[in-house]
Amino acid sequence: MSKTWVYSFSDGNGKDKKLLGGKGANLCELTQTGIRVPPGFVITTEACLGYLEDEKHRLPPSLMSQVTDHLRLLELNTGKKFGDALKPLLLSVRSGSALSMPGMMDTILNLGLNPDTLKGLLVATDNERFCYDVYRRFIQLFGKVALGVPDALFDEEFEKVKERAGVKQDVELSAWDLSDVCTSFLQVVKQFTGKPFPHDPYEQLEIAIKAVFNSWMGKRAIDYRREFKITPDMANGTAVNIVAMVFGNMSNKSATGVGFTRDPGTGENVIFGEYLVNAQGEDVVAGIRTPKPIAAMAHEMPDLFRELMELRNKLESHFKEVQDFEFTIEEGILYCLQTRNGKMNATAMVRTSVEMAEEGLITKEQALLRIKPETLEQLLFPRLNISDDVAPIASGLPASPGGASGIAVFDADRAEKMGREGLKVILVREETKPEDIHGFFASQGILTSRGGKTSHAAVVARGMGKPCVAGAEGIHVDVRLRHALIGKYQITEGDVITIDGSTGAVYLGEVPLIDAEFSSDLATLLSWADAVARLKVMANADIPSDAKRALKFGAMGIGLCRTERMFNDPSRLPIVIDMIIADTKEDRQKALDRLLPIQREDFKNLFTIMAPCPVTIRLLDPPIHEFLPQEQHLVDEIDILRNLRKNLRGMKVLSENVAFMFQHDDVHPIVQTPADPELLDAVILKKETMLNKVRSLHEVNPMLGHRGVRLGLTFPEIYSMQIRAILEAAAECLKNGVDVHPEIMIPQVCTAQELKRVKEWVTDIHKDVESAYRLTINCSFGSMLEVVRACMRAENLAEEAEFFSFGTNDLTQATFSFSREDAENKFLPMYNMNHILQDNPFEVLDVKGVGKLMELAVLWGRATRPGMKVGICGEHGGHPSSIEFCHQIGLTYVSCSGPRVPIARLAAAHAAIHAR
Ligand code: ADP
Ligand code: MG
Ligand code: MG
Repeated sequence: MSKTWVYSFSDGNGKDKKLLGGKGANLCELTQTGIRVPPGFVITTEACLGYLEDEKHRLPPSLMSQVTDHLRLLELNTGKKFGDALKPLLLSVRSGSALSMPGMMDTILNLGLNPDTLKGLLVATDNERFCYDVYRRFIQLFGKVALGVPDALFDEEFEKVKERAGVKQDVELSAWDLSDVCTSFLQVVKQFTGKPFPHDPYEQLEIAIKAVFNSWMGKRAIDYRREFKITPDMANGTAVNIVAMVFGNMSNKSATGVGFTRDPGTGENVIFGEYLVNAQGEDVVAGIRTPKPIAAMAHEMPDLFRELMELRNKLESHFKEVQDFEFTIEEGILYCLQTRNGKMNATAMVRTSVEMAEEGLITKEQALLRIKPETLEQLLFPRLNISDDVAPIASGLPASPGGASGIAVFDADRAEKMGREGLKVILVREETKPEDIHGFFASQGILTSRGGKTSHAAVVARGMGKPCVAGAEGIHVDVRLRHALIGKYQITEGDVITIDGSTGAVYLGEVPLIDAEFSSDLATLLSWADAVARLKVMANADIPSDAKRALKFGAMGIGLCRTERMFNDPSRLPIVIDMIIADTKEDRQKALDRLLPIQREDFKNLFTIMAPCPVTIRLLDPPIHEFLPQEQHLVDEIDILRNLRKNLRGMKVLSENVAFMFQHDDVHPIVQTPADPELLDAVILKKETMLNKVRSLHEVNPMLGHRGVRLGLTFPEIYSMQIRAILEAAAECLKNGVDVHPEIMIPQVCTAQELKRVKEWVTDIHKDVESAYRLTINCSFGSMLEVVRACMRAENLAEEAEFFSFGTNDLTQATFSFSREDAENKFLPMYNMNHILQDNPFEVLDVKGVGKLMELAVLWGRATRPGMKVGICGEHGGHPSSIEFCHQIGLTYVSCSGPRVPIARLAAAHAAIHAR
């Protein structure tokens, strides 16, 4: 027995997408569920791989004989005969791999036609127009896909005939016109290939199967797989589906269309889609005629509309997922031609998840698992903020929601080029084709003048979560002259436009964007997530506005407040600089005394916003020279000031104390200085002191230098000030009835002794503040774990620390001995490309190395302090795969940037469900 390469739709295993491709597996599933599908069979992806691996590109032996056997069954099933001159069976030969790659591979329709079978078809249907329409479609599609004849050559001939007949649309052509089209198409093929069009149906079939196999290795398909990171273990090779043709182009009682069981733009529970009467499948997607919305069918073909609704319900209750399906009506009979899980934007994913769970179609857990945490990122996409005085210059169909502005670009190549230069572009096309895909990647949004909501442009944009306005009639693009006419406006390439994919409006110029709002559906979904998750999700937030936003996103506290961001505020920086350049302890204390009330106010604000959630404050971490200007900058400034001092002329004196020096009457002053020589001297002196300080603080390797707790122990008064500010702020909040839970966290710790010293200060100041305010403050004390030694000594550190937080950015640097910038700029890409390292460890937590350290530290820490609270506050804390790992090693919480909080909440739920 030779290997089975072919499965009938009534036998194939509908779950085996890897073997049968998604389309083939689902066609089997549909057939076996009793949904009306035209009969057919699938050639496996294994056959495709066998063919592609063969040096001479031969089909696997016995494949064609198995195909012929199945053809015989198909003939029995349909009562037609392949290649027959009386009742010819026509076929579609369709690609389909394990993962859906819309439009990336090839399909040939109406296969089996030649002058003889055409006659048979004429007799069988008694419909000349239809027969020639089918024939010309076959010649063009087969010519293009299987023989490599450029589409443009056919289009040219087709236009000629249309012109001669004086019509605009293909449906207006007569049978005779179409017969002319066939004749010239056959001529086109002969001229281009140097050979006559193959007439033998079996030869056609074999060529077509090979062509579909080959399309797996076509440029489009390869680009797509690279972009969407589709690896061979996800999808390898394409299957070939051979299906009896059903005809949507037989008459006005026939139609073809595509539908979604729910609206993929909003998620609303209504059928969504488009159809064309008297047309064949590709017409809808290609945007040749603008199709009608499915709702119109309720009036135009009420019985069929009812059947379509039944089909929709069957599809959803069977697959328990929103379906994206294709159908064709042949003379009043509805066939389902394909179904797959619908691709939706995040808004629709969230809404359908919540509603399907509430309808009882899926469980809450399934509702959560349906959504990849990363896709929530789309919900943070901005919307257009349209004021009353801006009017759209054109409008089209709202094909993929969201707003986007950018430079109008009229072809995909240029869009790609400009996108790579970092420019924001909007791809503007009459219609798009699969070969434009690289232009999509580079664009902020897509605007087309032809095609509907299921046109290529719309489908692809929705898949990518990019805004798209489709079918904006009245836009004429002239790619050659590089301009477009939009109504009465002429847009030249380079002009900025804005599109609103939620309304279909197109604007001239840039329209401001506003942040997306947190929908109630998302709130519901995330509340389900919180109920399932074990990990708590905190936010990294340094200033009140961050904290407010984090709360809106559902943060359960602040896991990391970096005090340096408060120091960097321009109004405080001068005081911080005074503190740094102080030569004596007294001078430093003076500066710190000025900083204390400011920091206290900062913390009071944060505590009040976050109450009653915990706020973890990390004491000063970076090396202090980071607060001073760069050495060269100071040298230049001093130079200029000294020159000025010599000659105060040439300055524009604005007031007694301020003068500006301008270069060439420029509006931007180079330096602002006091006009008074004595004050100027003081300024120069201060800059010189700063310069000396910068030089004395210079370190060879600042990230491993004088920073964190090492700095804190060198200048106890800095940490003491911060500790006091935290505790006094807490006391004042408590006095005001605000429930606060501050946590003090020490950075860069490597030994318990460091913690012990700082803890003594905390204890002293704590007592002091409590007695001054006469109240009890709950404040815990913890340590960052971001030094390898700290992880190894976790058991010890836990004697002093009440909690740990992994700083995985530093810990990754330390574990690899990579400095991040150098690694990412110099060798990491090469390492990744050559698979020396799979990922960038600064983006994806290195579970095997850094993760191992973390796991041990958790274990050892809890050996000393059972149930100890342990979290993570590095960038990794917001990445789903790292969050999964954090769950596995038993962390208490993750902390990430505010906008990633929703993603982390969902990821935390996924982790908990996966762990069951
Ligand atoms: P794609 O993967 O690009 O969607 P398909 O294999 O689904 O390619 O085919 C494209 C279109 O051809 C479909 O939308 C469908 O309408 C039409 N088609 C495919 N097979 C048949 C068939 N057996 N009868 C009628 N139309 C078909
Ligand atoms: Mg399809
Ligand atoms: Mg750090």
